[in-house]
Amino acid sequence: MDQQDARQQLEQMLREIESASAILEAEGAGESSEISHVDQHPGDTASELTDADNQAALLDNSADQKAQVVAALARLDDGTYGVCVDCGQPIPDARLEVRPEAARCIADQEKAEAAGVV
Ligand SMILES: [Zn+2]
Repeated sequence: MDQQDARQQLEQMLREIESASAILEAEGAGESSEISHVDQHPGDTASELTDADNQAALLDNSADQKAQVVAALARLDDGTYGVCVDCGQPIPDARLEVRPEAARCIADQEKAEAAGVV
């Protein structure tokens, strides 16, 4: 995979993650504002809690993804991009095209997920 293309894709992903999490944070802040506490729908409390939980989960997700993208950009900088961090073998282009932030080959990614590392 062309490293210039990879960098462009990763920088684009980073911008998208940052704007998505800014929107989520703004919505989360709105949840705790006085206006949204006006109780116009008694019985909706449970679904509001679920929304807050979902937003927290989405924020966690985007923070994780952002960390992966930032790490991939750092590997581009130090010349180790596209090499599996576990086995040191090149990560197939087909995988990098789908997941430019991938740090591991598919086999090692599955092992890491099974071990709870990621
Ligand atoms: Zn590997």
